[in-house]
Amino acid sequence: MKSSNKAAALKVVEQKVEVAKPPSKYQAKQADSKKDERGLIGDLYEKILKDLGEDPSREGLLRTPYRAEKALRFLTSGYTQDLEELVNDALFTAENDDMVVVKDIEYYSLCEHHMLPFFGRVHVAYLPDKKIIGLSKIPRIVDVFARRLQVQERITQQIADTLMEVLEPRGVAVVSEAQHFCMMMRGVEKQCSTTITSAMLGEFRRNKASKDEFLALIRSSLR
Ligand SMILES: [Zn+2]
Repeated sequence: MKSSNKAAALKVVEQKVEVAKPPSKYQAKQADSKKDERGLIGDLYEKILKDLGEDPSREGLLRTPYRAEKALRFLTSGYTQDLEELVNDALFTAENDDMVVVKDIEYYSLCEHHMLPFFGRVHVAYLPDKKIIGLSKIPRIVDVFARRLQVQERITQQIADTLMEVLEPRGVAVVSEAQHFCMMMRGVEKQCSTTITSAMLGEFRRNKASKDEFLALIRSSLR
């Protein structure tokens, strides 16, 4: 009886010692990374790190799954952006029908085949009919489509289709040039090639003079 009481008392002391023990630097960091609210993607990134032969618990990688998830969510945030909301308060009545050109809009996207970045610039023109759009909205429309898993041809077409739908202009022209990491870092490993895609709608498709005028305006920008 006496000895079992002793054992119970000893257990309590042991537990107290455990609780009182200050957390190591490593444990404190682990607690920090839990606060970052890593989601399913973060958990999967940890598995990827292990599968690559890495040690996800080493100092430099401790918060990497969290950071990688956060980055990927940002780079694909175009999926959840509301185009209508973005555009609606920025439409104005056109005062003339001269061509509007916004060139050298830089963008960063992820190719849907390798999930590697491609990046470049896009040049946009439209021939207003009744409506114009605030100039700062065009780069934001570009980002809505760039921040997804993409192919360059589709971004170019989506920008053109969106402006056609929103502005009902006489025509829209979009030219995009980009460099693809899946070509630069792997595959054919060509670092200097640029891919150019274009979408010509309405008058830019029908009327050679309008198309040529736009191409002349952006010629100095093309690589
Ligand atoms: Zn690719």
